[in-house]
Amino acid sequence: MSEQQPNKIPVQQVDLDATKYSVHPRFVKGLYQNIRIITMYALLAAFLLLPWLRYNGRQAIWFDVPSQHYYIFGMTFLTQDFYFIAAFAIIAAFTLFMVTVYAGRVWCGYACPQTIWTHLYQHVEKWVIGDRNKRIKFDKKPMSVEKALKRLIVYFIWLVFSVITASTFVSYVAGTEFLYQSWQFIGFIPFPDWPTWVWVSMFIFTFATYANAGYMREQMCVQICPYGRFQSVMFDKDTLIVSYDYERGEPRGARKKNANADHLGDCIQCQMCVQVCPTGIDIRDGLQVACIQCAACVDACNDVMDKVGLPRGLIRYTTERQLTEKEPSRLFRPRLFAYLALLTILCGGVIFALTDRVPLEIDIRRDRNQLSSVNNEGMIENSYIVKLTNKTQELHTYQVTLAPQDGLSLELRFNNLELKAGESFDMPMSIFGDPDVIEFGQTPVTLNVTSEDGQYQVSKQNIFTTQGQ
Ligand code: SF4
Ligand code: SF4
Repeated sequence: MSEQQPNKIPVQQVDLDATKYSVHPRFVKGLYQNIRIITMYALLAAFLLLPWLRYNGRQAIWFDVPSQHYYIFGMTFLTQDFYFIAAFAIIAAFTLFMVTVYAGRVWCGYACPQTIWTHLYQHVEKWVIGDRNKRIKFDKKPMSVEKALKRLIVYFIWLVFSVITASTFVSYVAGTEFLYQSWQFIGFIPFPDWPTWVWVSMFIFTFATYANAGYMREQMCVQICPYGRFQSVMFDKDTLIVSYDYERGEPRGARKKNANADHLGDCIQCQMCVQVCPTGIDIRDGLQVACIQCAACVDACNDVMDKVGLPRGLIRYTTERQLTEKEPSRLFRPRLFAYLALLTILCGGVIFALTDRVPLEIDIRRDRNQLSSVNNEGMIENSYIVKLTNKTQELHTYQVTLAPQDGLSLELRFNNLELKAGESFDMPMSIFGDPDVIEFGQTPVTLNVTSEDGQYQVSKQNIFTTQGQ
């Protein structure tokens, strides 16, 4: 390492052979680990608790796929509103890109579900087996009753966490009420009375959580996750990175008691930065694809520096510009402004679309079997199904009317239709045309739907035809 150029940050490729080693990180304390733990457990708590939150008597966040209604607090979206979901996803993606340009892989280190669940599962191993050294020794030990028992306890706790994770995921779609109340007794044993898709989803999410957090771990970040790979493309000289200061640290070497260490750099070769790394890499080898920038090595090295009486920051959050060019980093860069401008436009567009949106949906379908018919009184009849959806959070009564047109009249099954919050109803309806008044062929007709208080109104066009009798 000492022969590396101190004025360059080398970029290393990671060894992709996962079979070579299994990573048992040492858990470390420090500023960044405290931030990380608080962030991780806050996000975990939000994920677990959000499905239980109620709003106006209903699950506040509920993606009810079977009925194609998606509830986010006071808003109800239908499949036709999917462009909102797409817009939210685009906004989230660009926010992530912007954060990456500024703060590097902060998402990977602090907020990614893979990191959070892996950390949690590794903590289970620590509770049951012990800290790093004990876990390494435990792995090497021959199989015994004690080893088998401890392994089983770890696997059991992992399985419980995986089932809780899976049921939380599924409850965002199936709804907490349905998921946890649709149980029946087979003899004395309670058994969930779920449809097949719920069972399949539960199995897939349980398996995925168990496999990813229990076994795949850092290999997911290193070998599979595409985001980890293309993030480095977004880095520039001013992006925050976790880096080792070669100039200060090299030549590295252990200090012997009372021996002159003037020829050595500040790295005392204690390996703590390697032992705490959740992906098992050595940050002193340079910037690597496998570095998720969790800053565990920063905390570990700062702790070591405190103990040996040297200044902190041998490994630190820095930028390439600061480290190699000795210049202050630039906070305001064209790329950041470009992302900011794009996000402002996108957010503005979504806010405008949301506030301008009428929470009432009308869809008109024609009777496909018979375009038109003639009734006993000689009037031409066209039949339709009008689907009304109340996308508000309150009960409303709606009135459907036909925009006045000579020779056309409307007949409805119900004059006033009462719909609960989020409810949809298919209402049969007929339009009658006087053959002496209306023109032969197709005539555009407009249906108006108005709420009882006049607050919401929508219109929809369709066709009245004299053909196909
Ligand atoms: S923790 Fe710091 S001092 Fe110890 S090996 Fe790593 S860089 Fe060197
Ligand atoms: S090198 Fe440091 S920052 Fe990167 S993953 Fe390892 S411990 Fe985290």
